[in-house]
Amino acid sequence: MRDKGLSEEEIENLLDSKLAEDLDYSSGKILGSMCTEPIEFANRIYAKYLCKNIGDRGLFPATSDLEHELICELGNLFNCDQAYGNITSGGSESNIIAMRIAKKLRPDVNTPEIVVPASAHLSFYKAGDMMGLEIKPARLKSNLELDLDHFKSLISENTIAIVGVAGTTINGLIDPIEEMGEIAEEKHLYFHVDAAFGGFVLPFLQDLGYDIPLWDFSVEQVHSLTADPHKMGLSIIPSGGFVIRGKSHLEKLGFEITYLAGGAYKHLNILGTRPGAAVIAFWALMQYLGREGYRNIVKECMENTFYLEQRINEIPGIKIPTKPVMNVIGISPEKPNLSVKLDEELRKQRYMLGLFKNYNLLRMCLMPHVKREHIDTFCQDLEIILKKIQ
Ligand code: PLP
Repeated sequence: MRDKGLSEEEIENLLDSKLAEDLDYSSGKILGSMCTEPIEFANRIYAKYLCKNIGDRGLFPATSDLEHELICELGNLFNCDQAYGNITSGGSESNIIAMRIAKKLRPDVNTPEIVVPASAHLSFYKAGDMMGLEIKPARLKSNLELDLDHFKSLISENTIAIVGVAGTTINGLIDPIEEMGEIAEEKHLYFHVDAAFGGFVLPFLQDLGYDIPLWDFSVEQVHSLTADPHKMGLSIIPSGGFVIRGKSHLEKLGFEITYLAGGAYKHLNILGTRPGAAVIAFWALMQYLGREGYRNIVKECMENTFYLEQRINEIPGIKIPTKPVMNVIGISPEKPNLSVKLDEELRKQRYMLGLFKNYNLLRMCLMPHVKREHIDTFCQDLEIILKKIQ
C-alpha cells in the first residue's frame, strides 16, 4: 500500500488504463452473458443507498421490510400467495439455500441425493460439495430436452429433493415442471425450480401470448424458486432472488445472529453482511418499469432472438438444435467437436459466447444490450470463420 494517497483524478486515470481490457456491453462482443447493463435508474438508486447493511435488521428495519414487500411482489409475479424468502447475491446462492433447506428437512437420510437434469447449473454441484449431497444428473435427449424417464429412474430412498429448470443455462429450455411436480408429490420430495434466467422472462412472454407451459408456483408441488434480478430482472450486479412458499421452513432453519441489533431475526442467506442497496434498487426498478416496461423489453429481445435464428439458419455448417423458447439460443457446428475450435476463433475476435463442449454447442443470450447491428456483424464474421475452420 502506498504511504501517501493519490488524487481522485490520478486514481481515475489509473483505473481507466488498468480496466481498459474489460469488455463493454455496448461493444457487440458480449453475446453469451446472462447479465446485462443494469437499467441506469437502478444503478443510481443503488449508489444512493450503498451503506445499508440488510444483514443487520435492527439497524435497517425499513430496508428489511422493503425486502419482504419485494419478495411478496415477486410471489405475485410467480403465482405464490404465501411468498417468503430473500434477495441474494445471485442464482448460485439461491440454489444453495434451497438445497440446504431440502437437506435440513430430511435428517433421517444419511447419504442424501438430489436428482437434477443434466442441464442444471453448476451451483447444485457446489451445494453438493459443501453439504455432502450426491448430485444425480438425468440425461438429456438429443434435442437437449430432459429425458424424464431417466430422471424418474434416478430417484431412490436417498433422494431428498428434485430440481427443475425454467430457462436452462445451456439454451434456455423449460423442464416439464408440471410432470416433475407429480413426481415430487408421489415420492414426497422437496421440489425446487431454478428460474434464475427464466424468472424475469416467462411472466412477460405469457403476457405477450406465447404458449408457455406451467413453470412456477402455479404448479402446487413447487416449494421454492430462484429468479435473478441481475439477469433479465435488469437490476444491479450482483442480485439474486430466492422465493419460498410459506414461512414455516424459514422459521425452523434460519440462524439468529444474536450480537446484531436485529438479533432476534432469522438469517437464511449464506452472506452475513449483505447489500440493502440491492433490495432497494430492485424494488425501485420494478416500480419504474412496471409489467409493461419489462414486457416491452422482453418482446424486443425475443424478436432479436428470432432474427438471429433466421440468420443462423442461412449459414452453412451451423445449426440450432432446439427452437428457442426464450432469448437464449444454442448454436451447434454440424461437424462433431468443432465447438471448441469455433469458440477459440470467435474469442480471437473478442466475441464472447458460452461454450458447452460436451454438447458441441455455443450459447448466445439476446440480452437488451444485443442489437440488430451486432447480430448482423456477428453473423458475417461467423460465416467467414466457419469457412476457414471446416
Ligand atoms: N441457475 C441458472 C439456470 C443459471 O443459468 C445460472 C447462471 O448462469 C445460475 C443459476 C447461477 O447464477 P449466478 O451466476 O448468478 O450465481
